[in-house]
Amino acid sequence: MLGESSAKYILKGRSRMAKTAVLYTPKYLNHDPGPTHPESPKRLEAVMEELNHSGLLEAGECSLIEPKRASIDDLKLVHEPDYIQLVEGYCASGGGLLDLGDTTVSPRSFETARLAVGGALEAVNLVMNKRFENAFALVRPPGHHAGPYYAMGFCLFNNIAIAATHLLKGLNTNRILIVDIDAHHGNATQEIFYDTNRVLYISLHQDPTEFPGTGFIDETGKGDGLGYTVNIPFPFRINDQAYLKAVNQIVVPIIQQYRPQIILVSLGFDGHYTDPIASLSLSASCYLETFSNMLNLASQFCTGKLVAVLEGGYSLDYIGKMAAAIVAKMAGVSYALRDKAPAVSGQVRKQAENVIKEVRTVQSSFWDL
Ligand SMILES: [Zn+2]
Repeated sequence: MLGESSAKYILKGRSRMAKTAVLYTPKYLNHDPGPTHPESPKRLEAVMEELNHSGLLEAGECSLIEPKRASIDDLKLVHEPDYIQLVEGYCASGGGLLDLGDTTVSPRSFETARLAVGGALEAVNLVMNKRFENAFALVRPPGHHAGPYYAMGFCLFNNIAIAATHLLKGLNTNRILIVDIDAHHGNATQEIFYDTNRVLYISLHQDPTEFPGTGFIDETGKGDGLGYTVNIPFPFRINDQAYLKAVNQIVVPIIQQYRPQIILVSLGFDGHYTDPIASLSLSASCYLETFSNMLNLASQFCTGKLVAVLEGGYSLDYIGKMAAAIVAKMAGVSYALRDKAPAVSGQVRKQAENVIKEVRTVQSSFWDL
């Protein structure tokens, strides 16, 4: 059993400071949305298999840490008590469909989702307490579509939003950056922080018209939060060139001006060209370059403090390799991954150029671009 073999690496205590914490428990496999559901336990099995196979967890720069489950009070940082009870009740009565779409729960999903929140919380605590420079919460179910009173898009509780809200309670934490590089817009994360300037939310995603219906260029925040939401909605099937241009011309300069105290990354791998449910055509190399930018910015502004929280990514052929490459990048060790995205049509390239131009125009009222 993979879960058991990976458990041997889980540390109860450490004798030596490693750079990167990987938060994981085999209990994350207990959430079972059904045999044909894309958000399958096989995703994390593939990740752990590659982490074990590559030897990254034995390299000395990474520590695998088993998180505790979040308390109900932790969930209430973002979610309504009635909604929390609803999820618990559904699971206790055997599970079923939690929304009008495809967010399904099984008897053990409530506990698993609490452990996912616990993974994100422990990741930020380990980094803020300087026990690790950075951390990757390898959790499921994912979180960025789950709002205060609703489940959506395979997400039950908003792991990264709860972690950010927990950080906001700390003294002197006033500039938290969330960069969302899942293929889909993080509708709920945006909603939760839409009216605050204490969290800057930047999302690069595919055309959100069909799902989730938010994430358009003119959604820029409100009240104190005006200018602290940045949406870059790409046309379907764009590949690396346009994506990295947006990262370099929009995302990086805005982050440099915001000067975050910690960088949180909603890390979904479903932008990869092999993903079976999303519609971008990015290569693994594009993900790594984007992520390297975030690590560099974290070094520049917040002594390296960066926490990645797993969101989507449904290509079982690639999720393991991509997650391992990210862990290696975080820990500063080598991991070979060669990958090239398919070519993109001239029309899509042109549409992407227009999106970048329009985002720059809109965001120029808030940032020097
Ligand atoms: Zn996604």
